[in-house]
Amino acid sequence: MNVAFLSTIESPDRWLPLLEKALPQERFFVWPEIGDPAAIDIAFVAVPPAGALARLPNLKLVQSLWMGVDGLLAQDDLPRHVPLARCIDRGMVAAMCESVLSHVIDFHRHHYVYRRQQSAREWNRLPQSMAADRTVGLLGLGELGGEAGPMLRSFGFRVRGWSRRPKSVIGVESCAGSEGLARMLPVCNVVVCLLPLTPETRGILNAATLALMPRGGAVINVARGAHVVDEDLLAALDSGQVARAYLDVFETEPLPVEHRYWTHPGVFMTPHTAALTEPRTATAMVVENINRLRNGLTPLALVDVEAGY
Ligand code: NAP
Repeated sequence: MNVAFLSTIESPDRWLPLLEKALPQERFFVWPEIGDPAAIDIAFVAVPPAGALARLPNLKLVQSLWMGVDGLLAQDDLPRHVPLARCIDRGMVAAMCESVLSHVIDFHRHHYVYRRQQSAREWNRLPQSMAADRTVGLLGLGELGGEAGPMLRSFGFRVRGWSRRPKSVIGVESCAGSEGLARMLPVCNVVVCLLPLTPETRGILNAATLALMPRGGAVINVARGAHVVDEDLLAALDSGQVARAYLDVFETEPLPVEHRYWTHPGVFMTPHTAALTEPRTATAMVVENINRLRNGLTPLALVDVEAGY
């Protein structure tokens, strides 16, 4: 198999030594030095250079190096007849669980308030809540939500989860559809967005859905910036409807310097680092997919292009 590495973001230096070691029989090329484009069987992509995919006429698989594929699906030159697999990386899933837990704990233990108090040299104890007093609602119960749910439950939080189709996840009370969401939000002190970005989920955190949450809760968005209607979240923060927003992702990245999020006292931001692909753990799945393709088996984690994830 001939594999072309096409990425404007992921560095081949992090991947190729691991891949070449695991797959000594395959030939790897790095764009633009790909030899004969017609001989390339597999494209490894993370934001491929514009027009690169369209130049590979005999692709058998497009393998994303990321878990989210909304950016790829929006690319005009994505060959839609070629199977597209996303990368399911256990290291990345673990990193996401850590990020979600750290934000939930920051809110639950009032650490964000105590940081403000420390800078004002203020000594003021807030009432303590037990984890069991809080309900965390997960939007999305896939690879990430399906792991974050039981993890949060193991810390004692009550956990609800929302997915497109009904799901069974240990320790998570799950629901589906817009009615399910309307029933779930009023009991969620913390809402965590772990959805893929699709036409159905764009703007899901808006004035109407934020208003359904109990007053004074927290919103954690670690999925995609466009899941949030920024003006609606800022209004909810200004009014106290939402006490705290933990934001890792933004519609425009890097976030423009003039954006209100930078200075809003209710916002904690990270630069899209909630979970980064970790080649040391992600290689296993990518290798499995190449082996499957060589043996005539269906690759893992194929994207449902119609559903958008
Ligand atoms: P996944 O395995 O595809 O799971 C997606 C979940 O969302 C599923 O439970 C799915 O429902 C649900 N869903 C999709 N559309 C829905 C809708 N219209 N209504 C209700 N539920 C819906 O995705 P994942 O691997 O967990 O990743 C989720 C997203 O996280 C990625 O797409 C990416 O954008 C983001 N991400 C961010 C970072 C970061 O660093 N910030 C890192 C990795 C990933 P079903 O179960 O019914 O299909």
